[in-house]
Amino acid sequence: MNKPASVPGQFDAVVVGAGFSGLYMLYRLRQLGLSVKVFDSAGDVGGTWYWNRYPGARCDIPTTDYAYSFDPDLEQEWTWSEKYATQPEILDYLRFVTDRHGLRSDIEFSTTVTSARWDEQEERWRITTDARKELRCRYYIMATGCLSVPKSPDIDGASRFAGRVYFTSRWPHEGADFTGQRVAVIGTGSSGIQSIPLIARQASQLTVFQRTANFSIPAHNGPASAERLKQLDEDREGYRHDARWSRGGIPLEPTDILGVTASESVRRERFEAAWAQGELFGILNVFADQGLNPASNDIVAEMIREKIRSIVTDPGAAEALSPKDHYFGTKRPCLDTGYFETFNLPHVRLVDLRKQPIVSVTEEGIDTADESFAFDALVYATGFDAMTGPLVAVDVAGRDGVSLREKWASGPSTYLGLMTAGFPNFFMLTGPGSPSVLSNMTVSIEQHVEWVTGCLKDLREAGFETIEPTALAESGWNQHVQDCAAITLHPTANSWYMGANVPGKPRFFLPYIGGVNAYRQACDDVVSQGYLGFRMTGPGGTRCRDGVIRRMQPDVAMVMELVAAMGLPPMDTLSAADARALMAAMAQTRPPGPEVGEVTDGVIPGPGGDLPYRLYRPAGPPEGPRPLVVYFHGGGWVLGDLDSDDPLCRDLCARSGALVVSVNYRHAPEARFPAAALDAFAAVQWVDAHAAELGGIPGQLAVAGWSAGGNVATVACQLARDAGGPYLAGQVLICPVVDSDMTRLSYQENGEGYILTTALMRWFWDHYADPADRGDRRAAPLRGNLPGLPPTCIVAADFDPLRDEGVAYARALEAAGVPVRLARARGHTHTSVTMVGVVISGAPVRAEIAEALRNFFPNAAPQEPPS
Ligand code: NAP
Repeated sequence: MNKPASVPGQFDAVVVGAGFSGLYMLYRLRQLGLSVKVFDSAGDVGGTWYWNRYPGARCDIPTTDYAYSFDPDLEQEWTWSEKYATQPEILDYLRFVTDRHGLRSDIEFSTTVTSARWDEQEERWRITTDARKELRCRYYIMATGCLSVPKSPDIDGASRFAGRVYFTSRWPHEGADFTGQRVAVIGTGSSGIQSIPLIARQASQLTVFQRTANFSIPAHNGPASAERLKQLDEDREGYRHDARWSRGGIPLEPTDILGVTASESVRRERFEAAWAQGELFGILNVFADQGLNPASNDIVAEMIREKIRSIVTDPGAAEALSPKDHYFGTKRPCLDTGYFETFNLPHVRLVDLRKQPIVSVTEEGIDTADESFAFDALVYATGFDAMTGPLVAVDVAGRDGVSLREKWASGPSTYLGLMTAGFPNFFMLTGPGSPSVLSNMTVSIEQHVEWVTGCLKDLREAGFETIEPTALAESGWNQHVQDCAAITLHPTANSWYMGANVPGKPRFFLPYIGGVNAYRQACDDVVSQGYLGFRMTGPGGTRCRDGVIRRMQPDVAMVMELVAAMGLPPMDTLSAADARALMAAMAQTRPPGPEVGEVTDGVIPGPGGDLPYRLYRPAGPPEGPRPLVVYFHGGGWVLGDLDSDDPLCRDLCARSGALVVSVNYRHAPEARFPAAALDAFAAVQWVDAHAAELGGIPGQLAVAGWSAGGNVATVACQLARDAGGPYLAGQVLICPVVDSDMTRLSYQENGEGYILTTALMRWFWDHYADPADRGDRRAAPLRGNLPGLPPTCIVAADFDPLRDEGVAYARALEAAGVPVRLARARGHTHTSVTMVGVVISGAPVRAEIAEALRNFFPNAAPQEPPS
């Protein structure tokens, strides 16, 4: 039972919403012994399942998974009748849970919270409802759902229609009878796609107004999957555990099959299996790369379009129903029952609004650019102001009276999707920045509720009364949310995930796409690090351990995990020969890099013998000579060759439009300092002298290099300047070694665990140069004479031990009057920027490098960068 309010109108917690999240929140808060009041505008529990009563409304996550797991007895007592339950059955379930735990007594229905204001003095929230009730609480929790504020119809004349108007999101409780009626449905998202086949059964005429064709797969509804039921029966707790630590909130083994490399038969087999299974996470897991790589995505998308063409008999309608303007999965795909088949019925017509836009709603119906339609009923299935809409619908004001609406005017900002700075003791369940709508909601909701109750318990035990995220932690999380989205195809779509469905809403990827498992880990890590990024206050004082919970780019973190799982021996424990063999073996497994026009190999006469080179010529126009870039590979003067950096050279060539001449140089320990540096300088001289033969523009020459290659590249620049030539237009140094001082902060921070370690760097130095030589400017060019060097682009990666020497070199060059562009590879390691085709987040950094190269050669023809 709930603890009664000790002072009338004063509660420990107020919760808004009595759907899946609000009900469980109430249950847990009661267990903490707190006094709680829940409000809901609806007349009963259910949240989304209370309002969305349109014909055909069902969940799109199998009901075996779309249910609470906190109460094992409940799980035994409730049996779902179908694989995807109907709205009435889900509502019954929520009522059953409510009554089973006696939750109703703390919920005030048909009451809307209109404002919530933080009272600084009292450290309480003042809550006002539309019943003019005022109350106070210490914790204010919005369990208002992600899709609960319908988008108002943004169509001219919407209020003029004289017939009946329905919204799928506010369907009348008494239902709607369309028998014998001429009905229009506007919108073909999940709500439209679920309701259209059922409306078509009654209506005498059904006209579907489609703006964007949507991907949908058959739900194949029926009994719950026997395989799942068996798994649950055998080990319910294990099954739920796997769900909690899965990517989407349903136990599923992510495939590692790439669409782009799979054979035609494997592609077909995997797709047909997913189509037959009829589950969202299945069709999103046909290929590992379908959410990232347009080519892979298109394979799945085209197979779905093929299915649509095979179902819809009118080729024109089939074409219009086939989505082509967004990548599959970047808008929520739908599960349907007979949706495409409905368009074969003689009384059903599709109007493609791309060809025939709506001009206005009229008294009789709808006028498009070409036609006037008359209807008896209009059904709006036009969607929601998703994720942020329900939160800003209440006038929430935090410290200094700043409202949430104001704070989020250019996009939401949260820490973990749970809290936002400036709003103490205010929690959001499934807020922006949480996995929510991209996951099985019930699993995410349970995680949120348990995290919040754990937090309140910890606060109480430690004697704190308020908690609030710091600005640093919050901006770090927002960045991480956007970084996770940026490596996927999602930001390209005009979806409600992006806020693109609501005119004027800032374009911002709203949910967290890193996965339920990654999110749970981040939340757990915040707690285990003493509530990192939260400020807690109480009578005993303030505690705040400020920081950012996830700074590494998500794909870099994935690569790090994969490398760690391989259990490779540390390079610095190997002989040079074994380390080279290991590096060559690793190179076999990576993608080849982009296509270029031509690749030719040759040799350059060097001071100690021939130096192999590889010349990359960009594809396509313009014909004729191009600027030249002499590139030196990485590998600590010991490892690497023309093959090791081949994908990176292709990428540099394709992006910059320059000819890239990758030159091998003598390696240590066979040839120690200064052999590599002298070879580099000789190569630059030779390429300059042979520019025209190589297809280059004489006098348009730059150097580039990664790691130790950056070292020899910049040493070659210094030697060229001292020798009075060749003239160099610029240098690009990617995470270069420019000093032998290993005491900088970046060595302390990143010297272990990020592939290039302090131990490995020491191993490289030991192989390359005697301690007495390591201060020589040809080994440590930071110590050289810097004025007169060419314009420079330096890449410094956050998690690189060499980061600070790169930054120091940039500063020293600047101080010497050299134009410098310092490209910060945020969230990257020493190696990750160069992992072409593997680490997608490295592409913007390489684009910046290419731009710097193009700027070195202002007269060169522009180049279309690769996608
Ligand atoms: P939605 O996916 O946003 O779809 C709205 C539809 O209305 C879109 O086709 C949209 O076209 C169209 N539309 C909006 N404004 C329009 C206008 N002014 N003129 C013409 N067309 C317009 O909304 P929803 O179908 O309600 O679904 C929202 C989300 O709720 C789903 O993605 C899903 O997450 C959830 N949901 C789930 C289920 C389920 O199966 N469990 C059922 C329903 C909803 P554009 O695409 O061109 O904007």
